[in-house]
Order: sequence, then C-alpha cells, then structure tokens
Amino acid sequence: MGNVKIQMVDLKNQYLKIKDEVDNAIKGVIDSVQFIQGNAVKEFEKNTAEYLQCKYAIGCASGTDALQIAMMALDIKPGDEIITTPFTFVATTETIALLGAVPVYVDIDEKTYNIDVNKIEEKITPRTKAIMPVHLYGQPAEMDKIMAIAKQHKLKVIEDSAQAFGAVYKDKKVCSIGDIGCISFFPSKNLGAFGDGGMVTTNDEQLAQKMRMIVNHGSKKKYYHETLGVNSRLDTIQAAILNVKLKYIDDYHCARIEAAEKYNGVLKGFAETPFVLPYVKHIFHQYSIRVKNRNELQKFLAENEIPSMIYYPVPLHLQEAYRYNYKKGDFPVTEMISEDIISLPMHTELTDEQIELITGKIKVFLNK
Ligand SMILES: *Cc1c(COP(=O)(O)O)cnc(C)c1O
Repeated sequence: MGNVKIQMVDLKNQYLKIKDEVDNAIKGVIDSVQFIQGNAVKEFEKNTAEYLQCKYAIGCASGTDALQIAMMALDIKPGDEIITTPFTFVATTETIALLGAVPVYVDIDEKTYNIDVNKIEEKITPRTKAIMPVHLYGQPAEMDKIMAIAKQHKLKVIEDSAQAFGAVYKDKKVCSIGDIGCISFFPSKNLGAFGDGGMVTTNDEQLAQKMRMIVNHGSKKKYYHETLGVNSRLDTIQAAILNVKLKYIDDYHCARIEAAEKYNGVLKGFAETPFVLPYVKHIFHQYSIRVKNRNELQKFLAENEIPSMIYYPVPLHLQEAYRYNYKKGDFPVTEMISEDIISLPMHTELTDEQIELITGKIKVFLNK
C-alpha cells in the first residue's frame, strides 16, 4: 500500500472505472446542446422513480432546494412548525427557516442517531404541519411510527433522504414512504453528480405536478405562472452522468456495506460501532463510531495521514443562526453524541489494506 493516500471519499478512482461511459454521456449532452431539461433529465427521472419505487421523481438543482420545494408544495407558511432533528446537516433546518416556518427539534435515538420517535408527539401543537425525519448516515428513520403519528395528527411527512438514496426500510425504499422524498446528488453522496443536483419524489400526482411547476418558476406553460416558483432544475449534463452512475448504485452500496462489515470486524468491542436496525438496509453514507477522546483520536489519525470527519460537531439548536429559544442541555442525547462521534473514511474504493491500516491505528490509539 504505502504510497496510496487514504481519502475520506475517493471520487477519482470511482470515476476512472466508468470513465468512458461517463465521458460519452457528457459529450452526448454537449453535442445535443440541450443543456436545460434535455432528454437525459427525463430519462433519469424515469429511472430514479423506478429504482426508488415511487410514482414521480422530479429533478432539481440540489438537495437543499429539494427540501425547500417540498415545503413550498405542501404550502408551508410563516409560523408553521416543522418537527425535525437537531442532529443533521444545516440544510434541513435552513430551508424551514427560509420559508419563515419554525423548526421544532426532537432529540435523537441513542443507537440510530435518528429522530427519537417516542418524543415526537409531545412536540405537536396546533401549528405543526409536517414531520421531517432525516435518514442520517444512510440508515432509515423509524418510518412506521412516524407515518402512524402523522396520520393520527394529520401531518405531512417529508423524508430528508439526502444521505440515504436507495436505503430500505422494511420492504420499502426511503423516499417512497412519506408524502415527499428529498434527495441530494452532491458529489460525495452515495449517488453523486459532478456538481450540484437534487430530486423530489412523491406518489401523489397533484404534488408531483405542483413540484414540477415550482422547480421551473411556477410554470407549466412557458411565460404563464400559476404558482410561486424558483429556478431549480437538474442540469442535463448532471442527469446524463447520474444516469450512468445509477446503473452501478447497488454495487456502490455493496462496496460500502462490505467496508462497514470489515471495519466492524476489527472495531467491535473497542469502539461503539454503528447499530443497524434489523429490518433496514443501511447504505453507509457514513461509517461513524463513538469513542472517548474523539478529538485526540482525530488528531492522532491526522498525524498518521488518515482523514476523518465530525458529522456534526455543533447540533443545530446550539448554532448561532438556528437556536431560537433552545439552550445547552435541551437535547442531551444529541449533545452527547456530537461530542464523541467520528466518521472514518467511507467510499466505494476502500481496499482491505486501507481498512487494516485505519483500524490498526485506531487500536494503537486505544491501546488495544
Ligand atoms: C447533503 C445534505 C443536504 C443538502 O444537499 P445539497 O445537495 O448539498 O444541497 C440536506 N440534508 C442532508 C441531511 C444532507 O446530508
């Protein structure tokens, strides 16, 4: 091994394996000069809907936009409350706040790091409009319970599936369970574009029509605007690339799951390895472990040229921009986990030698 530098995400080697196919797809779009809403977008929407077992899939410009578009389609208005997790990427809350709605945080489950479904109902008020679970690190949230609560209280469910494209809850793909699913094709996501990209999914025809208008200035017919919209279309070049990569997504998931199993094989017993619900397919967008002295471990790994990341060091209820009236101590599980979680290199190109080296160094650090 020696001279192969370990990376958090290895996009270069993943690309090289399908280079000809991807390059041809890009060239096809350039030759067609259909840069906006070209055929590749329609094809990719169709293929994704099929893959995710959803009736409708509509491309947009990013995962962040997908969340905003979903809430616009559901008529989320200023003052409406959206129940979500404080332990997620900022976009989840940022888009709620952008629309003038209010994120109402619920602490996370200590094992899955996803929203604690036993603490949702106590947060429901007459202003609650939707629940927005996040399938963090690639593991589905407890959707049965979430859907049951939503049904009982007449709430909508928006699945933030940015980290979980293709993950399965019981027999269903995420994105096909709630009212709307939101996907990100940010390059490092499990299905990554060569730039920004996103998608919204639904099984509801009216919502699908509305979202298709919203992404394109609220318009079905050019220059006729029926609803408030934005400019958020999936680029044709990105769609063409994604169409190629979608064919390999199950192989990509397998590679990640195998890498996770190899990590588990060495680290179980030394560190808290990921807990996986028995009835889900976790697709390991991240492989995250909990250890004491997390910051020292990160420093030690860096000294040994092993990258790692902290997702997320500051929970959203403690962020300057999103803390509302929350304070330290409000979400003890989230706060505890944000202090001892660390994500190790995880991608489709990890070799056995790299995993051995990484886990070996971790064991040295832990004196095991
Ligand atoms: C990446 C991510 C997003 C945003 O996706 P972009 O495509 O980067 O805008 C939203 N939510 C979560 C949980 C994410 O991880």
